[in-house]
Amino acid sequence: MKIDVMGVRFDNLTMEESLDKAERLIAEGETFYCVTPNSEIVYEAMHNAELMQLLNDAALVLPDGAGVVLASKILKTPLKQKVAGVDFADGLMGRMEKSGLRLFLLGSKPGVAELAAEKMLEKHPALQICGMADGYFKDDAEAISKVNAANADVLFVCLGAPKQEIFMQAHREELNVRMMIGLGGSLDAFAGTMKRAPKWMIRMNLEWFYRLLKDPKRIGRMMRLPKFLLAVLGKKKG
Ligand code: UDP
Repeated sequence: MKIDVMGVRFDNLTMEESLDKAERLIAEGETFYCVTPNSEIVYEAMHNAELMQLLNDAALVLPDGAGVVLASKILKTPLKQKVAGVDFADGLMGRMEKSGLRLFLLGSKPGVAELAAEKMLEKHPALQICGMADGYFKDDAEAISKVNAANADVLFVCLGAPKQEIFMQAHREELNVRMMIGLGGSLDAFAGTMKRAPKWMIRMNLEWFYRLLKDPKRIGRMMRLPKFLLAVLGKKKG
């Protein structure tokens, strides 16, 4: 079942259910893509019909962030839980270890995917990482041929939004993979080049504040959150 949060239709699933759905879709065999919008992206999509369409065309739409879940509660159609992209990716790697599916890492600055792969293999030693490429390619064809040569099943697309969503939808036919997922800056998080907040901050839904302290120029982007919540409150009244 989907839940509409300001036009974006989210899957209403727990983490485990989301992983189950991904595995089911992979077994069906047709190439599909997943998105993990946070409230900043939902706010952007509210003002960009093309992005809204890209998000709603995904086979799996996961609520990455407390803001989206809060909005769903305000709108009286609560989502079961937050399913952060980076946590979902970690769970998926756990399952891929068992099923033997092959993973390709695409995106972030040169060298970051290699570091991320090292960390991923420490945690998931049986994971098959079959290739990687940085996200600063001149034309898409270059990235597509690298992915296709690696014979991957799952592709992590970490180019930032909306670039990664545009890439996944535009090349769904040409890419020889079963599942793609847009994961923004997750490779930096896995690599440890961008540290996640301490656990207590994550628990208290304060990871956004930690990021802001680390990188104050995010303030412009972050101001979309209160604007988003105001729009949600406006819709609730209207
Ligand atoms: N990135 C990339 N190619 C580009 C632009 C960005 O690979 O042309 C990478 C960037 O290095 C970073 C990630 O995309 O690792 C997304 O970063 P950001 O935190 O801005 O995006 P978000 O996670 O908020 O979508």
